[in-house]
Amino acid sequence: MALIKCENVSIGYEGQTVVKDLDFQIAPGDYLCIVGENGSGKSTLVRSLLGLKNVEKGQIIYGDGLKQTEIGYLPQQTDVQKDFPASVYEVVRSGRLNSRGFHPFYTAADRKAAVEKMDLLGIRDLARQCFRDLSGGQKQRVLLARALCATKSLLLLDEPVTGLDPIVTGEFYQLIRRINRESGIAVVMVSHDIESAVKDASHILHLQETALFFGTTEEYKRSPVGRRFLGGAD
Ligand code: ADP
Repeated sequence: MALIKCENVSIGYEGQTVVKDLDFQIAPGDYLCIVGENGSGKSTLVRSLLGLKNVEKGQIIYGDGLKQTEIGYLPQQTDVQKDFPASVYEVVRSGRLNSRGFHPFYTAADRKAAVEKMDLLGIRDLARQCFRDLSGGQKQRVLLARALCATKSLLLLDEPVTGLDPIVTGEFYQLIRRINRESGIAVVMVSHDIESAVKDASHILHLQETALFFGTTEEYKRSPVGRRFLGGAD
């Protein structure tokens, strides 16, 4: 059973449709990259998957026990996040808040989850440091740990490597691969970087007003759309 199924979905702003007639699904353990040029509606789709934006048409169906509030989300970087005046531990632990509704106290299970995720991402020794003093790559690891605290089954990452240098970018992609393979957590990543997307992802959704392509990465590489955008790269 799919975690998320989009059936004939169109989304827009004030009657202005941004993406239309989307049909795709995300199964447990999938690694889906959403690619497409700036303004093609990638972030808009992400907001709808999170339930932050209504669809104009069609429906988004959640399955396999997934609730909208149990999606681990790593938003696009903003200056506000960069300057967040909290410790690493506090930022990671705050990932537990969304799934619980209006219940502002942390439990022992929340604290345990935060420590586990910091261990998993190799950032336990940063726990007491102030988030805003970290490097870009460390910050993304912290926000990834926070997203992992929020989910058992699906991570949604919106352009997570923007602004990172190539080495740190490579390390971050490796981390996502490892989480996807070892924990079986499905990953949906919005990316500009089609070349890297086809190296790691199991599925590709290529947006341009509608879904130019949805299918497995192997199918994408052989498709006319994939060949055009990959420029002959394997
Ligand atoms: P992408 O993530 O692929 O760059 P977006 O989803 O951010 O694309 O934007 C898709 C289109 O929707 C763009 O034309 C953008 O101007 C428009 N758009 C995005 N956010 C809003 C908003 N809050 N109000 C009105 N239009 C918006």
